[in-house]
Amino acid sequence: MVEVKNLVKVYGRKKAVDGLTFNVEENQVYGFLGPNGAGKSTTMNIITGCLSATEGTVCINGHDIFEEPYEAKRQIGYLPEQPPLYMDMTPKEYLTFVAQAKKIKKASIPSAIEGIMRKTSILNVKDRLIKNLSKGYKQRVGIAGALVGNPPVIILDEPTVGLDPKQIIEIRSLIKELGKNHTVILSSHILSEVNSICDKILIISRGKLIADDTPENLTKHFREGSMLNVLVRCGMETAIEVMDKLMAGLPASEKNIWSSENAKTDTHLGEVTRFKVPLYNENNTIEGKDIRDSIFKAFGERNITVLEMSPEKASLEQVFLELTASSTEEEYHEDEAEEEEM
Ligand code: ADP
Ligand code: MG
Repeated sequence: MVEVKNLVKVYGRKKAVDGLTFNVEENQVYGFLGPNGAGKSTTMNIITGCLSATEGTVCINGHDIFEEPYEAKRQIGYLPEQPPLYMDMTPKEYLTFVAQAKKIKKASIPSAIEGIMRKTSILNVKDRLIKNLSKGYKQRVGIAGALVGNPPVIILDEPTVGLDPKQIIEIRSLIKELGKNHTVILSSHILSEVNSICDKILIISRGKLIADDTPENLTKHFREGSMLNVLVRCGMETAIEVMDKLMAGLPASEKNIWSSENAKTDTHLGEVTRFKVPLYNENNTIEGKDIRDSIFKAFGERNITVLEMSPEKASLEQVFLELTASSTEEEYHEDEAEEEEM
């Protein structure tokens, strides 16, 4: 449905989008996940034909956005980060205006926008001025605008930002509903949000795609990759002996938990051994008992000091935390950025 190949956008010396390649399939909800400054809006502005690309191609339903912009844009409904609403219009007037701009046949406009207003639950406010509507309703009007012309692809840039919890739930369920017969791409900097509404998650960091998978696979990855780092004061052979004995006493299903393959002896610090134990749940427990208690006791019985035990976050979660940490710095640079628009 949407094919993005090797997309690059350079602003001065800064690469806002750095070689993005991905495909979006029909009737699914895709989430662009990344902190502020990751390049989500820039990518969406390019996909929707609002911004030029430095390099790369974008194809929407078989139409190249740069070669056939008119045809390609007809496939897309876009809600930008700042919805382009006219505050002195009513939702009905605004949607009529959008329909005219999208060159919808005059006769079919009233029934088309009536249907869209029903779908987005704004019929009850259709004759009030947009400026007097709540943020949640304004957002619905923006989404309604994107739906005019019934485009197969709907792109929503941070659709829940600034809404209260109730409005967030309502907008999320509206998006899920839209996903049944549209291809939806939305952006968010909230992991739990894309997790709850998207079929596929694309994690973007500093303009690069760092993950492209289902929420289930990503969650599994978080959990399975999680490790407990252990450092003990003894040689490798002793550490392996103690751990093998400890693991042999555990329930059968958990026996594969320990692998001596990654045990390492560090001679700088004298006879100490570092090894990792995979954690299969957040509480570090096996049958309700904290694995750290068992390790501590097992080495204690042999008079061996446990120097360190620290849970190491899964690689993806770690990556995501790093992303979030870097966002403050990115936001700072955003203030200095020069404006450039097509
Ligand atoms: P996101 O939507 O993920 O928060 P953006 O796509 O808005 O990220 O921005 C990506 C990077 O590009 C940021 O570092 C931002 O400062 C920079 N940037 C965005 N727009 C411009 C612009 N018009 N001129 C210069 N730099 C820009
Ligand atoms: Mg943005």
